[in-house]
Amino acid sequence: MNAPAPMTSLHELTIKTFHEGLLAKKFSALEITQAFFRRIREQDRTIGAYLALHEEQAAMDAERVDVALAKDEPLGMLAGAPLAIKDLLLMKGERTTAGSKILEHYTASYDAGVIARLKAEQAIFLGKTNLDEFAMGSSTENSAFQITRNPHDPERVPGGSSGGSAAAVAAHLALGALGTDTGGSIREPAAFCGVVGLKPTYGAVSRSGLIALASSLDQIGPFAATVEDAAILFRAIAGKDPLDATSADPPDGGYGDELVHPDFERVRKLVVGVPEEYFGAGVEEDVLRSVEQARKTIESLKISFKKVSLPHTKYAVAAYYIILPAEVSANLARFDGIRYSRIPDLGPHVKNLRDIYVRSRGKGFGAEAKRRIILGTFVLSSGYYDAYYAKAQQVRALIRNDFVEAFKEVDVIFAPVTPTPAFKIGEKTADPLAMYLSDIFTIPANLAGVPAVAIPAPTPEGALPVGFQLIGKPFREADILGIGQYYERIVRGS
Ligand code: GLN
Repeated sequence: MNAPAPMTSLHELTIKTFHEGLLAKKFSALEITQAFFRRIREQDRTIGAYLALHEEQAAMDAERVDVALAKDEPLGMLAGAPLAIKDLLLMKGERTTAGSKILEHYTASYDAGVIARLKAEQAIFLGKTNLDEFAMGSSTENSAFQITRNPHDPERVPGGSSGGSAAAVAAHLALGALGTDTGGSIREPAAFCGVVGLKPTYGAVSRSGLIALASSLDQIGPFAATVEDAAILFRAIAGKDPLDATSADPPDGGYGDELVHPDFERVRKLVVGVPEEYFGAGVEEDVLRSVEQARKTIESLKISFKKVSLPHTKYAVAAYYIILPAEVSANLARFDGIRYSRIPDLGPHVKNLRDIYVRSRGKGFGAEAKRRIILGTFVLSSGYYDAYYAKAQQVRALIRNDFVEAFKEVDVIFAPVTPTPAFKIGEKTADPLAMYLSDIFTIPANLAGVPAVAIPAPTPEGALPVGFQLIGKPFREADILGIGQYYERIVRGS
């Protein structure tokens, strides 16, 4: 038998170059899909990015794209592109676990809005990726099923909660991926794994079919190797969806072509703010150095910088850990052993509701989920609601207002993504507070509902990845992705 024809290395492919290669018939969608599965079989035993692979379906879908191409049918940018999906998003007929034992046997009965859109674009789904249980965590160590290792250093975490998606893209086990970001779960793992991750404006992407963590904060967004690819993925999933009442189109119409093809003349006129609160004590030297280098590169593009202040930043983590658990306690109430049950046959020992809860919620939820359900129930209970929950909502308003004020002066805000690079596996598992603090620079954008993208900053040879963040005005993803693409052209020399 002939050896397969030499193909473009998966390391070199982006969504954009894959699309070009496919149209030029350098390779078929099926060849690339199969090459990804081969690579996953070799590499993912160590990394642990995937919880499930959809090999048969992916091959069928890839063949369909190849047939369409042979017939010269027009193909979109994502046709045939192999993607990975965080296992918090429903995909009809496929197991969806949310990283939890309680959903170990749950099969989705419909497609999430974003999955429906990607299917319409003829994207290929390689499989579902690992996450912290119900997306609660910053390291993917809270998954009920496995840990995921950072492709840059297997002793370290990939970040979380979308650690599987970030690691899959970083290790070239997918061309792009979807994750979700409630307090940093796209941006933090993107920074730790050295890839691009976008948290869109609250409402820019439909949450239909997303298993909810905290509904006032959750957003679905893309991971990719480049800002350009992230823009391509974002454009495909963004827009109002009748199945999510909080979703919306941008006030000035739809997301246009400028997302993917920025007008650099316009981008150059944007003013970027640097908030002093994001560069203080607690940020590691290596992070500061890399982020400063990225800032200088952007400055060299004749983009002007200006100091701004976001004075309530220091209260963000505290407010978040009241608002988020409150919403968690409500959202996770549906996993009650009746509507969603871990145990198909409850058995003769189950006599009342309490027994059902003990067998389902008691056994099905991990420690972090339980901790947050208890916290959330407490802060919502009579007598404590005003003291905690109502106060946290007031703080949230102040934080949102910080951004409103800053955006009167500047168009975009520049900051680190995390105070440190990826930490060691096990380093923070015994200390939830230390874990919570790794999201100190990502949580404010969720509380304010504004978009933010994490982009790899320059690092010395062999060092761990570091990310910088561009935070934009609501529905102005074009600004942050525009500067990001401009920056990328310089550093990649393209
Ligand atoms: N790490 C944060 C938390 O544990 C953020 C999670 C997320 O964005 N899903 O809540």
